[in-house]
Amino acid sequence: MIQLIMKKIILVTNDDGVHSPGIKALFRAMEPIGDAYMVAPDRERSAVSHALTLHRPLKVEKLGSNVWSVNGTPTDCVALGIEKLLPRRPDLIVSGINRGGNLGDDITYSGTVSAAIEGTIFGIASLAFSLLSDGPPDSKLDYGTAAHLALQVARFTLENGLPYDTLLNVNIPNAAIKGVRFTRQSKRIYHGAIHETKSPWGEVHYWIGGGKPFWERGDDTDMDAVMEGYVSITPIHLDFTNNAAMDWLKRKWGGDGFSVG
Ligand SMILES: [Mg+2]
Repeated sequence: MIQLIMKKIILVTNDDGVHSPGIKALFRAMEPIGDAYMVAPDRERSAVSHALTLHRPLKVEKLGSNVWSVNGTPTDCVALGIEKLLPRRPDLIVSGINRGGNLGDDITYSGTVSAAIEGTIFGIASLAFSLLSDGPPDSKLDYGTAAHLALQVARFTLENGLPYDTLLNVNIPNAAIKGVRFTRQSKRIYHGAIHETKSPWGEVHYWIGGGKPFWERGDDTDMDAVMEGYVSITPIHLDFTNNAAMDWLKRKWGGDGFSVG
């Protein structure tokens, strides 16, 4: 009974940094459904994936009554938030709103999604939100609409929970939203993403980024949904086991393993 009247506690984090407009919009959006606590990296940590800082101590700075910055990764922030900073274990973890989509194989690089992965490992319902951004770095993004959508998804999650070992990866088009689709992860292939440059002293350097992505698409994929103006919600589970490949191994190699000869 006490549990029923307790206010929900929501941990808000991201990989774009504590000062980014996306996390501020997400933090405000959670107000009607619970007490929001922000624990986020002190600077942009996009594409750090699920990195955990093990070889140096972490510094935490309190920026407001419910806001902390950490000189670490999104995963560090989730772990510190749950174990040290929040008054109790959160009921929900929301990560984002990331500037730019996290679609297809890109989620393996994403700090935004990895924060939700960390929350899922802790057994807490976790959501990752990303807003598509195809324009130049200073182009205007509609975080207000994305935050409104995030509130709806957060509400559904608190009411219904999530399946075991599963997070939701939510991608929002930066355009008029036609609706929401449940999707599967698409596949992306990058070509020409490594650029060779020279320093003023003639040394050759390499810069990873850009390139032209090719997408293996399909009606029910995350990429197709956002291209057609729909919000994409992909359920992601953490068990990487490829069960079809397990059957293949057993069939082709024989049995459940083999003795070392
Ligand atoms: Mg980011």
